[in-house]
Amino acid sequence: MSEPLGLGMAEPADHHGAFPRLDDDQRARLRALGETIVTRPGQVLFREGDDGYDFYVVESGAVAIVQGLDGQNRVIAIHGTHRFLGELGLLTGARPFLSAVVRDGGEVTRIPVARLRELVRDDEDLGNLILRAYIARRAILIETGAGIRVVGSRYSRHSQRLREFLARNRVPYQWTDLEEDEEADALIRALGIAPAETPVVLGAGGVLRNPSNGELAAMLGLGSRGAAPPMCDLVIVGGGPAGLAAAVYGASEGLDTQAIDAVAFGGQAGTSSRIENYLGFPRGISGSELAERAQLQAAKFGARLVVPAEAVGFAREDSHFVVELAGGEVVRGRTVIVASGAHYRRLDVAELDRFEGVGVYYAATISEALGCAGAPVLVVGGGNSAGQAAMFLSQHAGSCRLLIRGGELRKSMSHYLVDEIERNPRVEVLTHTEVVELRGEHSLEVAVVRDGHSGATRAIDARALFVFVGAAPCTDWLCGKVAGDEHGFLFTGRDVQGEDLAAHDGERPLFLETSLPGVFAVGDVHAGSVKRVASAVGEGSMAVALVHQRLAAR
Ligand SMILES: Cc1cc2nc3c(=O)[nH]c(=O)nc-3n(C[C@H](O)[C@H](O)[C@H](O)COP(=O)(O)OP(=O)(O)OC[C@H]3O[C@@H](n4cnc5c(N)ncnc54)[C@H](O)[C@@H]3O)c2cc1C
Repeated sequence: MSEPLGLGMAEPADHHGAFPRLDDDQRARLRALGETIVTRPGQVLFREGDDGYDFYVVESGAVAIVQGLDGQNRVIAIHGTHRFLGELGLLTGARPFLSAVVRDGGEVTRIPVARLRELVRDDEDLGNLILRAYIARRAILIETGAGIRVVGSRYSRHSQRLREFLARNRVPYQWTDLEEDEEADALIRALGIAPAETPVVLGAGGVLRNPSNGELAAMLGLGSRGAAPPMCDLVIVGGGPAGLAAAVYGASEGLDTQAIDAVAFGGQAGTSSRIENYLGFPRGISGSELAERAQLQAAKFGARLVVPAEAVGFAREDSHFVVELAGGEVVRGRTVIVASGAHYRRLDVAELDRFEGVGVYYAATISEALGCAGAPVLVVGGGNSAGQAAMFLSQHAGSCRLLIRGGELRKSMSHYLVDEIERNPRVEVLTHTEVVELRGEHSLEVAVVRDGHSGATRAIDARALFVFVGAAPCTDWLCGKVAGDEHGFLFTGRDVQGEDLAAHDGERPLFLETSLPGVFAVGDVHAGSVKRVASAVGEGSMAVALVHQRLAAR
C-alpha cells in the first residue's frame, strides 16, 4: 500500500487567522447544518476541477490538501482536529484547484455550500471567522504558487496575458518557465504538446493549450455562470470600486443587477498594493483584498458578476439599453451604470509594443514584483500610483528608480507618500528625466533616458519598466452615443449642456446621469472625477439611488 499523503507533516500555524481551530460551541452550530460521516485514509473529499464542493469540518483524524492529485501529489497543508477545509473559491462558486484527501481516518462534518453561504450571511461570529480564514488562505496560496500550473516561455506575450489574467483575478498559480526548466520541457513533450501550442495551463481537472482568458475562466469557474435574463433592472459595465459599489447597493436594494468586467473585478484599485486613504482602514488595505470582500458582498446580495466580459457596443432600444459583448452576446438593461474607469497612457517610445508584457508593465502586482525579484526596475510617473508602485517594488527588486519629468515630486504626489519615498533608501528619484529608447533582445534589458535640462542621454540597466503616466477613459465601447469631453470622459449632471440635453426633453439630468436618461457614469470615467477609491465607491452607491428614481418615473 502506498504511503499516506503528507505523512509526518505538521499542521500550518494559524497565521493571520488562516487556520483557526473551532471550539465546541462553534462545531455544534456547524453540525446542525450538515451531516457527520466516518472517513478512511485515502478517501477523497473533493478533487481539483470538481464542479462545486462542500464545506468540511475535521471532527477527528487529519486531511491533506494536495496539488496535482495522482500526479505531482504536492501536499500543501494538513488540517487536523477541529480545523475546517476550503478557501475563498468555495464561497464564490469557483472550481477547487486543490484536492482534499483523508490522511488519518476519523470523522468530518459535511455542510452543503448553500447552507455555508447562509451561515456566513447570518452568523456574525462564524461568518467572520470563516471569511477571514478564507481571505488569508487565498493570500498564502498566491504567495506559495499553490494552484493551477502555467507552463510557457517568459518571452511569450500569451504567457504574460494569462499570468496577468490570473494575477488580476487573484487565482493562485505556479509559473514554470520553459526557458529555464528542462523538466518542464520534458513534461510538455510527454503530454504530446508542441512548443507552438504553449503556454499551457495544467490543473483543475484539465489541460488547456494557449487558452483565451474566457476559456481559462470557464475552466476555473470564475464569476457567475449562465446567460443573463432577457432584461435586467441594472447593467453595470466595469467592476472597479465604482462598479462593485453599484453592484452591492443595486442588488441589496432589490434590483436585478448584472455587473460585467473585461478583465477582473477590482479595477485599478485591485492592482494597488496598499490603499492608505480609504475610510475605516487606518493601517491601509490592499486593493485586491478590498475587491475580494466587495465581490463576496455583491454576490451575497444576489448580483451576477461576470468576467471576462468586455463591452464592445452600446445601443438604446425603446425604453431600454443593449450592451454588446466581445463574444457576440448582449445584455439588456432598463438602466445602465457606466463604471468602466480609465486605463494608463503609454509612453511615446519606439518599439514600445515589442516590450509590453515582457519588460514594460502598467500594473505593479505581486506577480510582476516576483518576476523582477533582485533585478533593476524603473518606475515612470509622478502621481500616487507611481509612488505606491515604487515603494512596493523596492521590497522585491534589486534597485528601484523613480523617473519624473518635473523637478519636484510634491507637486503631483500626496505628501505622505513623498515622505515615505524620501525615507526609503531603496528608491532613487531621478528628476527631469524621460525614457527615450528601450533595448533588449527578447525582453527589456536597457532603457535609455534623457536629462530634460542638458539633453544628455544615458543607458540604464532595467529588467522592468513600470509606466504610470496618466489615464485615458475606457469609453470607446459607447461608440460616441453618450456625450463626453474631448478626451472621452463622460459629462454628467449639470455638465451635460446644449445639444447634449436633447434626449432629456428639456429636463435637467439627474446628478451622475449622462446625456441619456437612465444611463449614469460613476468613478474615474466621468469628467471632473477626483480619481479616488472612496469617491468611486460613494458615486457607485449614489447612482443606485438615482436609478430607483428613473425606474419609478417610467
Ligand atoms: C496602482 C494604483 C494605486 C492607486 N492607489 C490609490 C489609493 O491609494 N487611494 C485612492 O483613493 N485611489 C488610488 N488609486 C486610484 C483608484 O484606484 C481609482 O480612482 C479607482 O480605482 C477608480 O475606480 P473606477 O471603478 O472608477 O474605475 P477602475 O478602477 O478603472 O475600474 C474600471 C473597470 O472597468 C473595466 N472595463 C473597462 N472597459 C471595459 C469594457 N469595455 N467592458 C467591461 N469592463 C471594462 C476595467 O477592466 C476595470 O476593471 C490607485 C490607482 C492605481 C492604478
